[in-house]
Amino acid sequence: MQDRELYRQILGIESPWKVERVDLRRADGEVHVFLEHDEQVRWRCPQCNAECALHDHQPERRWRHLDTCQYRTILHAQPPRSDCHEHGPRVVRLPWAEASSRFTALFEALAISWLREASQKGVAELLALSWDEIHGILERAVERGLTRRGTEPIPHLGVDEKSFRKRHRYVTVVNDLDRSRVLFVSVGRRKASLDGFWETLSAGQLTSIEAIAMDMWDPFVASTREHLPDADQKIVYDKYHIAAQLSKAVDQVRRAENKLLRASGDERLSGTKYAWLRHPANFTEDAWREFRALRESDLKTARAWALKETAMRLFDYHRESAARAFFELWRGWASRSRLTPMVAVARMLTARLDNILTYLKHRITNAVSEGLNSRIQWVKATARGFRNQQNFINAIYFHCGGLDMAPAH
Ligand SMILES: [Zn+2]
Repeated sequence: MQDRELYRQILGIESPWKVERVDLRRADGEVHVFLEHDEQVRWRCPQCNAECALHDHQPERRWRHLDTCQYRTILHAQPPRSDCHEHGPRVVRLPWAEASSRFTALFEALAISWLREASQKGVAELLALSWDEIHGILERAVERGLTRRGTEPIPHLGVDEKSFRKRHRYVTVVNDLDRSRVLFVSVGRRKASLDGFWETLSAGQLTSIEAIAMDMWDPFVASTREHLPDADQKIVYDKYHIAAQLSKAVDQVRRAENKLLRASGDERLSGTKYAWLRHPANFTEDAWREFRALRESDLKTARAWALKETAMRLFDYHRESAARAFFELWRGWASRSRLTPMVAVARMLTARLDNILTYLKHRITNAVSEGLNSRIQWVKATARGFRNQQNFINAIYFHCGGLDMAPAH
C-alpha cells in the first residue's frame, strides 16, 4: 500500500517498525497510524542494553504526533517488553517517544518551542491541548533540563524572593549572576526554602562559590552559613536592598513632617514624595534645580535625604579600612540626627556592616541582567493563569533556567 509507505517516511518510522494500517477519520479531522514491528526482532533491555528475546506486548497505546496536512495525527502501537536474563520483562525504548509521554518526541519539541514564545493559554488553543497536557509537557521539559545540567563553576550567585499573585506568597530564587540564569526556585522564603538549593550542587560547585548576594534577610543568611564554607566572607548584602531601606526611612520622616507642616498650612512637602526617593542621576537638569530649594532647606526630610545619599557613597570605596572610617563618621551623624527612622536604619546597618563591606571585594548585587529580569517579569505577569505555585515555579525554570529541554532523540 502506497499510503503506508508514505506515512512511514513522513513520520520517520524506521525498521524494525513499520506502518501496518492508516485510518483516516475525515469527520474527526484525524488520521490514525497503526505501527507494528517485524517478527524475530531482538530487543534491547532498557536497563542494561543487552539484546533479548521478546517477552510479550503491553496493551495498545496512543501518541499524539505532529499534524499531517492539518489532520491531527495519532500513532498506535503495542509496546514490546524485552526478556532480559538479569532484569526480567521490561518495556523497551520506543524510537518516537519518551517512556512516560502521550506525545511523540517531535510533537513535544514543537510544543516546547511554541511555549518559549507564547502564553500557555495560546499554545493550548493552537495545539488543542488541555491545561494538564500543557503542564505535563512543561514539567517533563524542565525535568529533562535539570537532569542534563552540568556541574560547571558558579562563582557569583544572587538569592532573591519573588512575590506570587497576592501579597505574602513568595518563591525563593537563586540566580547565577555570571550566566544570567535561574538555578533554583522553591516555595516560600524561609530557611528551608533555600536549604534545598545546596543539595543540588556538586562538591566542586560548592567550593567554586566566591560570593552570594542577598537581602538582609536572616533565614537566607542562616541557610548560607549552615551550608557554605566561609560564608561570612562570601555573603554580600545587596546594595539596592540597603538603598531601599534608607529610602523607606526617608519616606517615614517625610510623612511625619508633612503632617505637621500641613497642620500649620505649610504645603512645602506636598507632592514631593518621589523627588526624595529618586536617584540623583535620574533627575533632569531642570528638575534637579527645582529640587534644590527643598534639599538645601532646613527641613528634617532634607537632612534624612542627605543622610541616605551620603550613606550610599560607602559603595564607592575600594579599601575596607577607609570605608570603615567613613561609615563611622556617617553613623555618628545619623545617630545624632534625632530622626528616629534614620537612627533605626543606622543601627541596623551597623549590625550588618561586615557583610555590607564584603561588597568592596566582590562587587556584586542582586540585580540580574536586563534580559533575565524582563523574562522573570514576563513570567510573573502571566502568573495569573497558573493554578498553583508549582506551575509558577516550573514556568520560571522553563523560561529563565537556560535549560536544554528538548526530548531525547
Ligand atoms: Zn537488562
